[in-house]
Amino acid sequence: MVLMPEQPVPRGENQPTLLGGGDAGGGTTKIGAVAQTHFDEHRDIVFCAADQVNLAAAHAKIPFQHGQPMAFEIGGGGRFSGGACDLSARHRMRGMNQNPVANLLAPALYVVATPIGNLGDITLRALETLRGVDLVACEDTRHAKHLLDHYSLRVPTLALHQHNENEAAAKLIGLLAEGRRIALISDAGTPGICDPGARTVAAVRAAGFRVVPLPGANAAMTALAAAGLLDEHFLFVGFLPAKVGARKTAIMQLRDVAAALVFYEAPHRVLETVSDLAGLLSARHEIIIARELTKLFEQIERLPLPQALEWLQADANRQRGEFVLIVSAPPAREAAALDAVAEHVLTTLLAELPVKQAVKLATEITNQPKNALYARALALKAAAAADSL
Ligand code: SAM
Repeated sequence: MVLMPEQPVPRGENQPTLLGGGDAGGGTTKIGAVAQTHFDEHRDIVFCAADQVNLAAAHAKIPFQHGQPMAFEIGGGGRFSGGACDLSARHRMRGMNQNPVANLLAPALYVVATPIGNLGDITLRALETLRGVDLVACEDTRHAKHLLDHYSLRVPTLALHQHNENEAAAKLIGLLAEGRRIALISDAGTPGICDPGARTVAAVRAAGFRVVPLPGANAAMTALAAAGLLDEHFLFVGFLPAKVGARKTAIMQLRDVAAALVFYEAPHRVLETVSDLAGLLSARHEIIIARELTKLFEQIERLPLPQALEWLQADANRQRGEFVLIVSAPPAREAAALDAVAEHVLTTLLAELPVKQAVKLATEITNQPKNALYARALALKAAAAADSL
């Protein structure tokens, strides 16, 4: 529904009120400037950009400065700030976000991380933002409703998932152009991390609108926090391919990476994946199996990779739920086992050169994998530093 400029709208209890750059007084409200209503899933919701609203108790004009943040309460005492004005009249505007915090939010796309299981794992800022936005774009509206209800948040939602992300993103860009504040959430954790969101963020940025990230829960980081790995680097791989051949190829390509590898896995594939990891990677890796993080049956087990399959098979419950698998980086000793010549060349060069240069030359001279030489070089340096203490 689009309301035309200067069209008078009678105020009634069930009449959504929408105000444009006009005056408000008496029994009618004038609509001015650009004024549009969007009835989506919540038919009684009316969007209204803060700087498009003029409210006056006794036909008084309220000075607005374009782009200036402002806050107002409607329905309580009628306080107005930011526009240097107090309203004494009791105005209740259905459909307007009644939270003063809401009106302090700048128009932008807010990328909000949500819990990965435990609903207590949401930040204060995320709650304030979700309370304050005009719309929440979410992977699954029913799932989001459960989350929003839990925090008593009444915000309209819009479905944005992998099958409609481009169209949904275009819709969001249209709303951002009208000055709306939009939150983007996924079913769990951080949007865009193995979840829809990246395309939307890219499109919104390309269209020139602000994207504001709100950090929070993420399964990979949660698992890493409890892994206790001393590896200096980690590589977030996410889900391995579902097809056996492609999965094995992917694992082979990761063999020489001198970093811990972080995988996401679903319960119905965890046995296959762990079996392939154990079969294709060295027996000297360790694995951290982190399942049901932050939930009732959370389990975090660290064990040698060759024992992982047996451990999972020992109890059917261990194969249930959501998984993060972390495979430790190849041990430095393994990298050193390249060959004796490589070790000698590397040690000699390290005595004279910085690590980067020594590794580069050692790679050229010995034709050994650069990652392995680099890992060994770091280990040698660390050992030398420890000796000198
Ligand atoms: N966006 C999410 C994040 O930031 O972590 C990831 C979403 S991805 C679709 C879902 C996968 O994340 C699951 O299959 C599992 O591998 C991992 N995951 C999510 N929640 C988890 C949890 N509570 N415990 C363990 N893994 C979890």
